[in-house]
Amino acid sequence: MKTVHHPLTRNTPGVAIELRSLHYGTPGRGPKATLQAALHADEIPGLLVAHHLRARLAELEAEGRILGEVVLVPVANPIGLAQRVLQSVEGRFDLVSGENFNRHYADLFDAVVKQVDGKLNGDAAHNVALIRAALRDGAAALPERSALESLRRTLLGLSIDADIVLDLHCDSQAVMHLYTETSAWPRVEPLARFLGAQAALLAEVSGDHPFDEACSTIWPRLAARFGAATPIPSACVAVTVELRGEADVAHEWAERDAQALIDYLAWQGVIAGAPAQLPPALCEATPLAGSIPVNAPHGGVVVYLREPGALVKAGDRLADLIEPMTGQVTPLLSPVDGVFYARETRRFVPAGAGVLRVAGREALRQGNLLTA
Ligand SMILES: [Zn+2]
Repeated sequence: MKTVHHPLTRNTPGVAIELRSLHYGTPGRGPKATLQAALHADEIPGLLVAHHLRARLAELEAEGRILGEVVLVPVANPIGLAQRVLQSVEGRFDLVSGENFNRHYADLFDAVVKQVDGKLNGDAAHNVALIRAALRDGAAALPERSALESLRRTLLGLSIDADIVLDLHCDSQAVMHLYTETSAWPRVEPLARFLGAQAALLAEVSGDHPFDEACSTIWPRLAARFGAATPIPSACVAVTVELRGEADVAHEWAERDAQALIDYLAWQGVIAGAPAQLPPALCEATPLAGSIPVNAPHGGVVVYLREPGALVKAGDRLADLIEPMTGQVTPLLSPVDGVFYARETRRFVPAGAGVLRVAGREALRQGNLLTA
């Protein structure tokens, strides 16, 4: 294992922040997988899964079972982790710019087109190698005028040429679920099974350039741009894995999740050895546009009546919202049939706040599909 230190641009003289990446196996010898934990810094389950992964990957490397390269970024957002506001950590938004740490990743499409145009041929492997080199160059050329730009540039550089990118997040209170690109689903379905995902949310483009899509969606776009004479496969599968809720931090879960990720890497040929038997699927894939939020019509106390993971019908009463001054009780009903997969942690919400989400089968939403 090789540790690489990535000093980030200093926003303040004298205040140094670094990112660290752990590299197992041999670059270029086989497929590459990059896993990163807690891009929204205070999503702690991923930090513990990475801790267990670190030990497992070291064992696998010692046994010579890593066929290509596995890169682990055990703390993907040291900037956010240091953003202490009064007594809590603000890990989702950069306090300097107000930007979400998992949005606004660079679109390298134009840079890649410029570099590879006229050099592609009928050999898909040749094209993939050429495009990956252009992607590396494109990521390396991104600006790093601030700590945030520097973080985004570094993270993208570690993942942009990978075959598999697993971005480990968590929700407020939730069951295991994941997000990925629609056409990638056949390759991601085994991951959903190994992890025991209870919702899998698919979108071609979900909006605002999250990290996973910056790595994966460029491939089908390049294929469409250059046409069938120069075959370009979808060479990167990228998944945002939501490791349940923010308080679901336990060795038992984290060990199991780390093993599930290793099983998936074995399934994908990154790790040698017979892959584990595929567990049964706990959910079907549904469109991200079918994940319907329920917002608070007024401020109040939230009392949940159902637990995350419940299969619900449209109209089922999932929570009561109580206006404590007037005594008004507003039932919050499921908007669709589906899986009640995530809910807000806070038990007092202001008017308009997102309270819960239900994953339904029908793509009912349009526009930006991610929450803020
Ligand atoms: Zn997150």
